[in-house]
Amino acid sequence: MKPQAGAEDIERVCEKIERLGFRAHPMPGAQRTAIGITGNPGPIEPAEFEGLPGVAEAIRVSKPYKLVSREVKSEDSLIRVGIESAGSPRSPIGETASAALAVGDRQSSIVNAEAAPGFIVGGRTLAIIAGPCAIESQEQALAAAASVKKAGARLFRGGAFKPRTSPYSFQGLGKEGLEILAEVRRATGLLIVTETIDPENCDLVEEYADVLQVGARNMQNFSLLKRVGRSRKPVLLKRGMSATLEEFLMAAEYVLSEGNYNVILCERGVRTFADHTRNTLDLSVIPAVKGLSHLPILVDPSHGTGKRDKVIPLARAAIAVGADGLIVEVHPQPERALSDGYQSLSPEEFEILMGEITAIAGVIGRRIAI
Ligand code: PEP
Ligand code: MN
Repeated sequence: MKPQAGAEDIERVCEKIERLGFRAHPMPGAQRTAIGITGNPGPIEPAEFEGLPGVAEAIRVSKPYKLVSREVKSEDSLIRVGIESAGSPRSPIGETASAALAVGDRQSSIVNAEAAPGFIVGGRTLAIIAGPCAIESQEQALAAAASVKKAGARLFRGGAFKPRTSPYSFQGLGKEGLEILAEVRRATGLLIVTETIDPENCDLVEEYADVLQVGARNMQNFSLLKRVGRSRKPVLLKRGMSATLEEFLMAAEYVLSEGNYNVILCERGVRTFADHTRNTLDLSVIPAVKGLSHLPILVDPSHGTGKRDKVIPLARAAIAVGADGLIVEVHPQPERALSDGYQSLSPEEFEILMGEITAIAGVIGRRIAI
C-alpha cells in the first residue's frame, strides 16, 4: 500500500481478497502496510488490485515462503512481547517501528525498562533471554531469575515440558513448572519464554507463557506450528538441527499463514561432523535470514556449542554478526542442574557475558535494555 493509504483502503483490499476466496494478511510497517495474499491456487492478475485506492503495487512473490519474505514486507518486523497485541487473524500485527516509538525505543540511547509495559524484539534494543534449561524447583527458578535480572536480562527462559532424547531423562515439572514461571513473572517482572511440545499441551502453556518456544526437534511438527499460528502469543521458533534455511523459513511460514505474524527465529546450531562442540553454531545464517526475511532472529550459544567455555565467545560473535539477541542457559548451580548443566553459565559468567555484549552492541549501533 502507499504510505498515505488509510485504514479504509487497507480494509477494502482485504475484503476484495476475501471475496475472491483467498486469505488477506495485513502487515503494517513503519512506512507502509503490506498485504499478503495466501490461498490462491495460481497467479492473480495484478491489475485486479492496482486500480484500488491506496494500492502502490501488486507484487508476485517469487520465493516458496511468502509472508515471512522481504518481498512481501521490506521493513524489519518488531515483535511485541508481554503486550496483548498478537494474533487474531485480521488484526494488523507484524510489528512496526511506530509501535517501538510508543514504548520509547529508538528515541534515546537508553531505554528505561521500567517505563515499558512489555518488550520489543527486533529494532535496536537486543533481546536477552536467560534462565535454566529446565524449571526444577521454585527456589532454583527464583534464584536464576534474580541473577539474570540483575545482570540486565528482561526475559526469562525455563522449560516446564522438556523434549528429551531419552524417555528416562528428566521430562520437566509440567504444570507445576508453569506455576513456578508465573511466580517468577510476578516476583521479578521478567517476561516468560517456555516451550510447548505438542498441540494439546499448547492450551496449557499459552495460559502462562509470554512467548511460546517451539524447539528444534519440533521445527517441522506441522500440527504444532499450525496450533501456535492460531495463538495470540509470540512464537520463538528454533531451527531444526538439520534444517536448511529454506526449511526453517517454511516452518515460520506455517505460523504466519495461520494469522500469527509474531515469530522470532532462533539459530541454535546444526549437526555436523565436528566433535569439539555439541552442534555447529551457524552464524552465517544471521545475515542470510536478514536478507530474505523481515522476522527478527536470535542466537542460542548454549545449545549451539553445548560447552560452557564456548558460550561467551559465540555470544559475542552472535551480537557482532547482527543477531537481534540471545537465549542463554543460566543456572544458579550449573554442576547440579537436572539438564544441560555442562552448557549452562553460572550467574557470574552471565554477568561477564552481558558486560561484553553491551560493549559490542555499542559498536554496531545496538543496545541492551536497562
Ligand atoms: C531448550 O531450549 O532447552 C531446547 C531444548 O533447545 P533446542 O530445541 O534448541 O534443542
Ligand atoms: Mn537445554
